[in-house]
Amino acid sequence: MHRPIELGFCSSCIEINLGAIAHNLREIRQKIDQGVKVLAVVKSDAYGHGAQEVCLLLERCGVEMLGVTSVEEGVNLRLKGVGLPILVMGCIFPEEVGEFFSYSLTPNLCDLNLARKFSRYSIKLGQAIKVHIKIDTGMGGLGVRAQEASAFVREAAGLPGLLLEGLFTHFCSATEGGCTNEQLGRFRKVMEELESVGIHVPIKHTANSAAILNVPESYMPNGTTAFNMVRTGLLLYGLTPPGCPESSLKLKPAMTFKTRLAYIKTLEPGETVSYGRTYTAKSPTRIGVLPVGYNNGYNLRLSNKGYVVIRGKRFPVVGRVRMNLIHIDLGQEEQVEIGDIVTLYGEGGPSVEEVARLIEGSPYEVLCTTGKSNHRIYLDGIGQEEEHPHSTGEEQLAPLFATAH
Ligand SMILES: *Cc1c(COP(=O)(O)O)cnc(C)c1O
Repeated sequence: MHRPIELGFCSSCIEINLGAIAHNLREIRQKIDQGVKVLAVVKSDAYGHGAQEVCLLLERCGVEMLGVTSVEEGVNLRLKGVGLPILVMGCIFPEEVGEFFSYSLTPNLCDLNLARKFSRYSIKLGQAIKVHIKIDTGMGGLGVRAQEASAFVREAAGLPGLLLEGLFTHFCSATEGGCTNEQLGRFRKVMEELESVGIHVPIKHTANSAAILNVPESYMPNGTTAFNMVRTGLLLYGLTPPGCPESSLKLKPAMTFKTRLAYIKTLEPGETVSYGRTYTAKSPTRIGVLPVGYNNGYNLRLSNKGYVVIRGKRFPVVGRVRMNLIHIDLGQEEQVEIGDIVTLYGEGGPSVEEVARLIEGSPYEVLCTTGKSNHRIYLDGIGQEEEHPHSTGEEQLAPLFATAH
């Protein structure tokens, strides 16, 4: 099957394997303790995988909470029928306070004026609201300074209508031990100060994907300062954060970027390909032309560096990546035909992590830009789930999205 009908309609597409996301969630659950909740980070359209589809899946898989960056993202999810608690982790403007009540969103608070506005609204509407407070232990941006945190929390927790549900912090580099331990230490101290004055916050969360792999102390529920939720994005989508050793989890990448071979031509020695003539044929060379470029998220920096896979074989990208075209060297390979499926990256091609290294970028960036720029096709991946030893069976999912969008 070299020409699935879906790809016939568009020059490139990304396949999103929802079964892989369900699988990755199970892998994460196996790593963390039973009492630890999972907040699935679905900001930036679920890292390009499509927030609506991903969230409806995660809801069925039993994640406890979703994390988005903006109110707008949260509202959109509610409009799509997502019912899970949604924490807005990014910046919040005073004009947006009303939306939190109308759409049952949970704000992160780190500004007292904003906290007071939430409180006034709550009184006016007669509706209490759950809030999380973000503590800055070393990221330097959004968040109450650790030194000021316990005073801030005491004041905010005393405001009528606010129910303090969570306290959290974000690591700036969970791949280097030293800094993370300092951050954890500052966060623990705040929690202990609060415990000592009788403020017990139900949910305390620090770990992101890198910390899940590298810093078990950041999600081990022990003692009064138990951290009982993790916030994970990248691992759910099946990738390992940069700088982490080969993951101990058996992850499956959820996004695969594909196109089709559109044209073949043989260049004579001395002829060049694409803008700037950065590639010259040394001998008669068969060049394959693919209808994707940086407009589809295929990074310009993959020029003369990237490779693609057709029928299980690798072919290097030659010449500059163009806005809507790339060129590959087909070498002596006779077993390729126009219309063949080409894997640009993901399952069966170079990994997204590898592409990120080639462009000296990050896998986060590759997912977001590729996700935004292509037509998405959803696979439920149920068949693939069954062969996996970690399947417990309990999460057998009925098909979610029968066909492509
Ligand atoms: C994006 C984000 C995460 C998730 O990071 P991953 O590395 O993808 O796990 C966690 N917490 C906060 C506050 C974030 O903004």
